[in-house]
Amino acid sequence: MTAVQHKKTLSEPARELPVFGEYDVVVVGGGPAGIAAAVSAARHGANTLLVERYGFLGGMGTAGGVTNFAGLYGRRNGEMTLLVRGVADDLLARIDALGGLNTPQDGMQGRIRVRSYDTSAYKIAADQLLLDAGVHLLFHAWAAAVVREGDRIAALVVETKSGRQAIRANAFVDASGDADVAAFAGVPFEVGDGHGSGLFPTTMFRVGQVDAQPALAAVGEFKAINELMAQVQERKPGVYQFPREGAILRPNIDPREWRANVTQIRNAAGRAMNGVDARELTEGELEGRRQIAEYFKFMKAEVPGFAGAAIVEIAPQVGIRETRRIEGLYALTGEDILSSARFDDSIGINAWPMEMHADGRIEWAFPRDGNRTYNQLPWRMLVPRTVDNLLVAGRCAAMTHEGQSAARASGGCFVMGQAAGTAAASLGASAKFADVDVSALQKKLAADGADLDR
Ligand SMILES: Cc1cc2nc3c(=O)[nH]c(=O)nc-3n(C[C@H](O)[C@H](O)[C@H](O)COP(=O)(O)OP(=O)(O)OC[C@H]3O[C@@H](n4cnc5c(N)ncnc54)[C@H](O)[C@@H]3O)c2cc1C
Repeated sequence: MTAVQHKKTLSEPARELPVFGEYDVVVVGGGPAGIAAAVSAARHGANTLLVERYGFLGGMGTAGGVTNFAGLYGRRNGEMTLLVRGVADDLLARIDALGGLNTPQDGMQGRIRVRSYDTSAYKIAADQLLLDAGVHLLFHAWAAAVVREGDRIAALVVETKSGRQAIRANAFVDASGDADVAAFAGVPFEVGDGHGSGLFPTTMFRVGQVDAQPALAAVGEFKAINELMAQVQERKPGVYQFPREGAILRPNIDPREWRANVTQIRNAAGRAMNGVDARELTEGELEGRRQIAEYFKFMKAEVPGFAGAAIVEIAPQVGIRETRRIEGLYALTGEDILSSARFDDSIGINAWPMEMHADGRIEWAFPRDGNRTYNQLPWRMLVPRTVDNLLVAGRCAAMTHEGQSAARASGGCFVMGQAAGTAAASLGASAKFADVDVSALQKKLAADGADLDR
């Protein structure tokens, strides 16, 4: 018997791929950025396909159990105002029509305003929005590679239940959250903080059958749960191990149901779990559910109104805040957030502050001008340097680690997606995104209801 040779790599034989179809625009990922990109491209007349690995849309908003829109509202001239407009309005209106959108909730001493939603309503509303815009959908398809021809992507390769297939397009939008397509195409990127860590992931869960009145009275205020956790730890030292200081525990539309953002997923080295590492993702899923079981014991025993509660859902996947961020023509920085930056090539607004999920805690940093608590987002952050017909929108666009901690919220991702889809719809056959006429794009975005703050 010959000894089995364990090699580190092996060669996959080359094979012919069936072509699934040919489109003007292919969008990868159905989160806020991908939804807005696909709808915008289709509304501008492009034959558009959205490819999504799950069987539903919403990205972290549904698959990650986020259940809350942030970054849509900010203070303009001191007034709390809805600042992210366009496709986001249409999606929210549809969720609302299904009875799935909560009224706006303020927090952090009136510095933020958010809207929670029901994930099932989000999924249905997003399906309808895309179908009505004429977007073609391919669910259960995992983008796995690209075929490059010179500086362009000629085709996306997807793994599906029907096998591996190629999809041709004139323009591609990477809204995968992880810059998967950009990475396949060789676009340079950084992962997390660039030093082996990053924003810590969280497995979200929802708790139902809560006794609403005592719960609202005890922990209805934004940070009240933090005080309760600190008091219990003082009274009963060592009884509960919390994954981080404090929690975000908020009522959903029906206050008998609450969402809990409390877990924090570390890897074996004690750093933020790497959401683009297959082994760490597996361990992270296990750890998230372990932490939930532990925290739920605390909720039932110590939080008023939760004694008879039940976990109604653990999110389908661990919630990933940050993985790859591409190198683009401009990287949005933390200082851009804090200084309420303006850009000549504004494509819209991010109205969320820096929210750094650091080791054991959340660090918030707000724009210095309390009357203008938002920044413009520049077109250049969507444009990778090295591939002509690819845009990258959403949490993996070009930002520093600090800038991303703000603009990763759904609001900014809708804005980036709308701009990417609008631009992709009219990219000429051999044209480059780096040469796009930005003022013409801005006119289209404004005509479509986007607020460019100009
Ligand atoms: C725990 C947690 C709490 C958060 N809380 C809030 C909050 O309260 N409010 C808020 O507004 N934001 C919040 N965020 C941030 C926000 O939800 C995300 O940053 C936002 O959804 C990012 O949008 P996106 O479209 O860039 O990417 P994603 O939402 O990540 O969507 C990417 C999509 O691409 C798909 N995909 C990925 N790779 C592939 C592939 N290779 N092939 C095919 N499909 C692929 C995914 O399945 C997914 O549907 C939170 C995030 C987390 C993790």
